[in-house]
Amino acid sequence: MRLNVVAMAGALALALAGCNGTGESEGGVTAERLLAAAGDNANWLTYGRDYAEQRYSPLDQINTETVGDLGLAWYTDMDTARGQEATPLVIDGQLFVSTAWSKVKAYDATTGAPLWEYDPQVPGETAVKACCDVVNRGLAAWGDMLFLGTLDGRLVALDRETGEEVWSTVTIDQSKPYTITGAPRVIDGMVLIGNGGAEYGVRGYISAYDAETGDMIWRFYTVPGGPDEAATEGPALAAARETWNGEWWQYGGGGTVWDAMAYDPDLDLLYIGVGNGAPWNQAYRSPGGGDNLYLSSIVALRPETGEYVWHYQTTPGDTWDFTATQHIMLADMEIDGEERQVLMQAPKNGFFYVIDRATGELISANNYVPQNWTTGIDMETGRPIEVAAARYDQTGEPFVSTPGAGGGHNWHPMAYHPGEGLVFIPAIEAAFPYFPEANWEPDPNRGFNVGVDQAAGALPADPEIRAASAAATRGALIAWDPVAQEERWRVQYPGPWNGGALATGGGLVFQGTAGGNVAAYSVRDGQELWSFRAQTGVVAPPITYMIDGEQYVAVLAGWGGIWALAPGGILNETSGPVQNISRLLVFKLGATGELPPEPELVRLPLDPPPFTGDANLLQQATYDYGRYCGGCHGDNAVGSTVLPDLRRSAVLQSEDVWQTIVHEGALTQRGMVGFADSLSPERVEAIRQFVIFRANQDKGLEQQGG
Ligand code: CA
Repeated sequence: MRLNVVAMAGALALALAGCNGTGESEGGVTAERLLAAAGDNANWLTYGRDYAEQRYSPLDQINTETVGDLGLAWYTDMDTARGQEATPLVIDGQLFVSTAWSKVKAYDATTGAPLWEYDPQVPGETAVKACCDVVNRGLAAWGDMLFLGTLDGRLVALDRETGEEVWSTVTIDQSKPYTITGAPRVIDGMVLIGNGGAEYGVRGYISAYDAETGDMIWRFYTVPGGPDEAATEGPALAAARETWNGEWWQYGGGGTVWDAMAYDPDLDLLYIGVGNGAPWNQAYRSPGGGDNLYLSSIVALRPETGEYVWHYQTTPGDTWDFTATQHIMLADMEIDGEERQVLMQAPKNGFFYVIDRATGELISANNYVPQNWTTGIDMETGRPIEVAAARYDQTGEPFVSTPGAGGGHNWHPMAYHPGEGLVFIPAIEAAFPYFPEANWEPDPNRGFNVGVDQAAGALPADPEIRAASAAATRGALIAWDPVAQEERWRVQYPGPWNGGALATGGGLVFQGTAGGNVAAYSVRDGQELWSFRAQTGVVAPPITYMIDGEQYVAVLAGWGGIWALAPGGILNETSGPVQNISRLLVFKLGATGELPPEPELVRLPLDPPPFTGDANLLQQATYDYGRYCGGCHGDNAVGSTVLPDLRRSAVLQSEDVWQTIVHEGALTQRGMVGFADSLSPERVEAIRQFVIFRANQDKGLEQQGG
């Protein structure tokens, strides 16, 4: 009986949304449809569901009473076993999703029947320019087209019916280590796209392209260029130039716009989140300090022209990789008796900011995770009150910061429930040791190169220290009250790298976990009301849509991303070693679908050859491993499950095979480039001996531990 009432309510919602729910094409995605996306319950038209990026759907057929009946409607396997971070789009009965390696798949959203797929053929060697896995976070739609940013920097327009390329334009200098992992957005026929690469030394910007032709309309650089550009760069960058020292342009300066955007059509403002400095260590980037605008800032732009309007810098003079590219969310709420138009962000630096989105004025800030790099935010100036020891770039001494470079919150989308007035934050509690690197030099060739010694800061082999680190590294879904600036409730997780969030009118918040589940919690108190075994870590955010009176929840599953690679070993000790099974999972009430049996995670045994290297070369090899290998194959050679754990690799047995791959680049097509232009064969062999040394060390510990 209750189900009938719910179904009727669903039909009513559909009627109110003005959608026939037949799943037939209703024509193109227009400005009107995008502006009305918040009330369009049938569809999911843009990355954050609406321009405010709230990721809240009013749909309530799946609710706190019915969610126990939620089951698997359909699923489909992906052809890439790397991190899956994308938000699918649903448009008029069809579901479109991007995957690792910037591929796109289209399905009938009701049945899962495949419609078409598109592979941009990203060259394998692009992987080495991507700090954080070969991921893609989503698509944009306009007219009869979809828009995709590819890892190698192209913006591609696809015909939504056929998946065929309409146009493609290169948005970056492909000789430089730029990548695109973020989702484009569309405002009134303009496609907006940024890029990443600040860990490798690039200059950040966002560009706008004509959706019909692919012609560039404007470009906004987030940091000033070289001296020869000073005369023509305009007032916003001229002001920024005053906040820099030295020759930052030689290293790019950073400030990549790799994820967040939001749009307020009434104020006619586009908001972008700006990333960290390049290199991280400010002593090298801008000797003598300075705020280094517009790094780690939220910047408001005029969408038609890209003209600067205002900015708020969360971390002046960033030296910790404290990006402010994290999810930007807009909402209206009463604060101190006044109705405010706010912008909210939980950037990496650990503070939750509520900002007046018309003016950029800071309304309030409080830390949403423990933090030790400040004593708080000065509300007069809006600046963090730094602890002196935190500036390792100035003291020359290491500093262990909480949060660290992974952030208190990373790219995983938050969600907002307007009825409860809560923001749900996929939060991370983890420290990072910043060891200033002596005599740092830029390297145009290869490597994660940030002026912080990755090898010195790597997790040691000592099992007690590793256990303590693992215990201090965890995650949570935090229900945050942005008015009171305090936590209402939390779901605590053993691992830090959990999924993005979705909130619904059914009183539910959905989230996948590092431990391999998809769960639904009550927005009231965080009580778990439903859980599904996904068999793989889930980092992407769920979406919801309605077709023919039935509500669906969809999520892309598949373990990966930065936490699954560089510090992947520590995750094996927190969340447990989870495997990558890349799959789209779609749920509805009453469905009884099942996944195939969960495969056992197969890990090769630790069986290294004896160490035969020169012990004197170990120090250089440790550094080289941290600089060139650790970002993908794991801190201190403790690998993850996504990419080969070199300690366990058969390749370790043969110096010749090792040279063929690591020096010559035999596996370039698969993303493992050769390092011949940075490392001699002797240094490559020394790295092999370092991994052998570490593998024997860990094998000994394993045997001790029984
Ligand atoms: Ca970064």
